[in-house]
Amino acid sequence: MRKLMPAVAAAVLLAGCAGREQAGADAADARLAKYTSVRLTTDMGQLTEREQRVVALLIDASAAMDEIFWQQAYGDRDALFAAIPDAATRQFAAINYGPWDRLAGNEPFVEGHGAKPAGANFYPPDMTKEEFEAAAASGNGAALRSQYTVVRRDEQGALRTIPYHQAYAPHVEAAAAKLREAATYADDPALRRYLTLRADALLNDDYRASDLAWLDMKDNAIDVIIGPIESYEDQLFGYKAAYEGLVLVKDRAWSQRLARYAAMLPALQSGLPVDARYRREQPGTDSDLNAYDIVYYAGDANAGSKSIAVNLPNDEQVQLQKGTRRLQLKNAMQAKFDRILVPIAELLIVPGQRRHVTFDAFFSNVMFHEVAHGLGIKNTVNRRGTVRAALKEQASALEEGKADVLGLYMITKLHEQGELGDAPIEDYYVTFLASIFRSVRFGASSAHGRANMARFNFFAEHGAFQRDPQTRTYRVDFARMRDAMNALSAKILTLQGDGDYDGVVAFVEQYGVISPDLQADLDRVNAAGIPVDIVFEQGPQVLW
Ligand SMILES: [Zn+2]
Repeated sequence: MRKLMPAVAAAVLLAGCAGREQAGADAADARLAKYTSVRLTTDMGQLTEREQRVVALLIDASAAMDEIFWQQAYGDRDALFAAIPDAATRQFAAINYGPWDRLAGNEPFVEGHGAKPAGANFYPPDMTKEEFEAAAASGNGAALRSQYTVVRRDEQGALRTIPYHQAYAPHVEAAAAKLREAATYADDPALRRYLTLRADALLNDDYRASDLAWLDMKDNAIDVIIGPIESYEDQLFGYKAAYEGLVLVKDRAWSQRLARYAAMLPALQSGLPVDARYRREQPGTDSDLNAYDIVYYAGDANAGSKSIAVNLPNDEQVQLQKGTRRLQLKNAMQAKFDRILVPIAELLIVPGQRRHVTFDAFFSNVMFHEVAHGLGIKNTVNRRGTVRAALKEQASALEEGKADVLGLYMITKLHEQGELGDAPIEDYYVTFLASIFRSVRFGASSAHGRANMARFNFFAEHGAFQRDPQTRTYRVDFARMRDAMNALSAKILTLQGDGDYDGVVAFVEQYGVISPDLQADLDRVNAAGIPVDIVFEQGPQVLW
């Protein structure tokens, strides 16, 4: 049972701080306005009854990911909620999975809470990087650095590790049981196999077999991404994976539209605008692209800014062996375009270029961002191991920046070759700039936010756009934006290939800042009441 104060005692206690409570509620209302609520639906009529059973069970399994992510990001959710007097602040804490505002550099918004620990709740809060490195050097490095362990102190105060499947046993067991039950209703054999292997993985933290099985799924109408996957929540080292769950229904018509691009990856890789030694790796040709309606977000995927596209798995060995799958979350993407991107463009893009902000271009930019994760370089060229290991906590933001700029590079190339249809290239470039404004608002606590700040400043330095101080709107210079795109691609691929940690830190320090002009423009966007991101009405009550 939850530990809640008896109602009467709580009412007496809270009566004394009614003024403070009201102030807290007003501040929370202002923060809540950063999000606009969207109903996550799809045409459930296209699914059979058995498929609908699968969806319901996958939602149940994903809900368990929520429980775990709360522990990873913060700790005791129920105690936190019990200590928050007003409903608006509790709601905002639920959106953020803790008392820190993910869209405002993780600043605390609940009284009594200081800065968010960089290592979230993956490590002891008082542990320093030096202590960790010393412990890792003395023999326990593999377990300490594992994606799938939490680090705690033993009774002597020394660092020890607990495997995820032990640390979160009740929740992974619940989720695994739901996945196994879902498998009994899954008529697609590849989906059934994946669900079964994923259930095993949740119980032993060995995800490789299930990742490979996930890549083998081709014809399934329903999909789920579940388990500890991304490492953005670990801002201390970027080692620890955070649990999430995404339940998806395939959009077959849009998927066909995407299918042809996967075959073009090797040619695009060999044409990357960088010295040959940084583009020598072969991207997997088995990669595929599909569009989905997402019907449920849980855990890491549901915290702060929401993904509208996914490129998985992250396991480099699996990627080299079988490539990746790229999932475009069409209904979530359309919601962000309509409710956020168009209003931003109407405020910040010069009137004559606004017609170039289109959903098709937005969709393509996001899609090729995901494709671009599969391009480039995964292992350093100078024996520093994988790029991810060499760049540590800087790796995620740089990889996001790479995917954005290489995505635009690919669009440029495919457009030249007549592969992209009739829309003018200007659509993609202007929509790309408008998207930077959208993403910069995610703030410095998000890898995407930092990557966008750096790109904005790099592009500004190269004259890719000009700001008219009179109208305070931006005009793209198409030729210079193209040059800037090539220059930034080369810069990032070189930093990655060299595993140049210090170089990345210097790059982010130089470019990852918001200028006063940009801040003033972002303030105007905020003042206009344009939301920063979306939250969801989701689950069985919305679907059935
Ligand atoms: Zn990405």
